[in-house]
Amino acid sequence: MRAYWLACLIFAASLSAAQGASQDSSEAKPSPQLEHFSVANADASANACQDFFKYADGKWVAAHPIPDDMNTWGVARILQLWNETQLRDTLEKVSSNDSARTPDEQKAGDFYYSCSDEKTLNANAAAWLKPELSRIASIKTKSGIVSEVAHLHQTVDGAYAPADNQTTAAVLGFSGQPGYDDASHYVAVFDQGGMGLPARSFYLDQDDKSKEIRAKYLQHVQKMLVLGGEKTEAAKTDAAVVLEMETEMARAAMDPIARRDPKNLNNKMTLEQVKALAPSFDWDLYLKLVQAPATQQYIVTTPAFFKNLEVMLREHPVEHWKTYLRWQMLHGNANALSDAFSEENFDFFGRTLQGTPNQLPRWRRCVQSVDGSLGEALGKVYVARAFSPESKQRVLQMVNDIEAALGRDIDAQDWMSPETKAQAKQKLAAVMNKIGYPDHWRDYSSVKIGRTSYLENQQNAVHFEFERWVAKIGNPVDRSEWGMTPPTVDAYENPQDNTINFPAGILHAPYFDPSQDDAVNYGAIGAVIGHETIHGFDDQGRKFDLHGNLRDWWTANDGKEYEARGKCISDEYTQEVPEAGPGVKQDGRMTQGEDTADNGGLHLAFMALQADLARQGKDMDAKEADGLTPRQRFFLAYGFAWAGLARQESIRTQVLTNPHSYRRYRVNNVVSNMPEFWAAFSCKKGSPMVRQNACRIW
Ligand SMILES: [Zn+2]
Repeated sequence: MRAYWLACLIFAASLSAAQGASQDSSEAKPSPQLEHFSVANADASANACQDFFKYADGKWVAAHPIPDDMNTWGVARILQLWNETQLRDTLEKVSSNDSARTPDEQKAGDFYYSCSDEKTLNANAAAWLKPELSRIASIKTKSGIVSEVAHLHQTVDGAYAPADNQTTAAVLGFSGQPGYDDASHYVAVFDQGGMGLPARSFYLDQDDKSKEIRAKYLQHVQKMLVLGGEKTEAAKTDAAVVLEMETEMARAAMDPIARRDPKNLNNKMTLEQVKALAPSFDWDLYLKLVQAPATQQYIVTTPAFFKNLEVMLREHPVEHWKTYLRWQMLHGNANALSDAFSEENFDFFGRTLQGTPNQLPRWRRCVQSVDGSLGEALGKVYVARAFSPESKQRVLQMVNDIEAALGRDIDAQDWMSPETKAQAKQKLAAVMNKIGYPDHWRDYSSVKIGRTSYLENQQNAVHFEFERWVAKIGNPVDRSEWGMTPPTVDAYENPQDNTINFPAGILHAPYFDPSQDDAVNYGAIGAVIGHETIHGFDDQGRKFDLHGNLRDWWTANDGKEYEARGKCISDEYTQEVPEAGPGVKQDGRMTQGEDTADNGGLHLAFMALQADLARQGKDMDAKEADGLTPRQRFFLAYGFAWAGLARQESIRTQVLTNPHSYRRYRVNNVVSNMPEFWAAFSCKKGSPMVRQNACRIW
């Protein structure tokens, strides 16, 4: 479950990682080494002013081909593997049936055991599935449809994931979320949902590649229904029904660019108004089944989607809905069932959409599954093993220095009025900095985890998390709560509680590296800290005030000036992405927030390094022992943090669905906007890394 509006750093989770099962039970135990920055990684045969990504990363990339079980590979993925190896050691110790285990160890250990026990999974999955299938088969009325939707929301992950382009849960999404007008309390939110493909454009685009993917999706749905017990011919007809229904939902769904503007989503309604949108859906029954607290106000993110739901409930017979719900149930539970299910699931979502040849070994999928389901139970141990109080202190100091740099940057803007500057600085001063892990760990005592049924364990964990969010409705927001688990290699900003969050998982080499000097650390983790700090002031974040309320605190003229600078960025990033295949173009309006954070973030990190070196009496441009200046090492370390590559299919899916630009552009577009970079490598006007129309907001 994700909190709303999390603006994170990477977000391109390796889909192949979350899906499927491995045939290989004799797995070698890797012990990966962390990657460290070195000037030797630079490619001397490349020209830093022509293609800085190639210069900083070309050599590393050539030496590190993508493993067969990954859609993308790079220094971040190596750190992720290192983290998972730490978790695996712990989980193997606590997965034996030992009465001396603590309650958290019992839950994490037995969850891992039930996931790892392939034999039991394959032998029993059909029996576990039976009650799910018979419940759907017995549906006779529209109320039955509603009951099943509630059940799927309680047992399949993702009933509320609006930080994604769409909610993938059956039919619609529901959860508690901080209110737009008053972010101090949670309100109830209904969101669009219901689609199995990664974005609405996957249903609607008419180019050849999109048609090819839809044809494969149709086959995939058919095969899943056959695995669920249908005859081949019936499953073919039913798969067409699923695609038809999901396409109708996609047509009515709001597009991801419009969804980036929170004003478009802040549609406040009473329950009577919600009911009027789709009278055929028994809202009272749904709310009762998911145990939602009574409340005065609901936010309906996309009213048009719910009006269309009414049309669909009237026009499609109950049999169609049963087919759709059966597919959603099989799809949502695929990775907790037999190898046949997870292999078929991987074949479409891993191979077709990401281009990944093989699934991850089972141990990695199981570690990720425990992290996803009981993340704070497991995270506690990870922090004790792998994150020192010294690291926490040093990172906190860097965060303070980078926030101070933003204060100076706000002061220096010649296009902002004193009134807006004062508001911006109030917001900055109110940011809560969270480093490493939560101060209070989540209490999992009510989650029942056993050693036998992986499916049941997963469903129990989802139920706990879904109800935990629903129960928040009407209650105060707790800013100290985390939206990512401690071992995660990522970071995020949440404008609705005005926090920036850096899980312990990313606070290792090559991002935060105690063995390196300040220039390297500011270029790597400093840029990450700057990125999250800027999110509160990107084109979305700036719409929220210091309390996290959606409120326009800009003078009209300053707002206009901001938008002109934002358009420079979105125009710059509206570009062909040849790595994604012919004709694939990035829409800079979708990535504008992330691109703004990348550009402003590196600038803030640079300012903080300047101040840091000045304090130490060091010169930014004096050559040091390795033959480079601190300025050069700063930019090389930034480049190295993005070292890596991805498969073409995966890049295509990313460009079409993800708010982050592809890594080469996260390096080259950013540095080519920065005179501070041009000076580092003496780049001349006219070279590709010296942009004529350089953009800068922060
Ligand atoms: Zn971000």
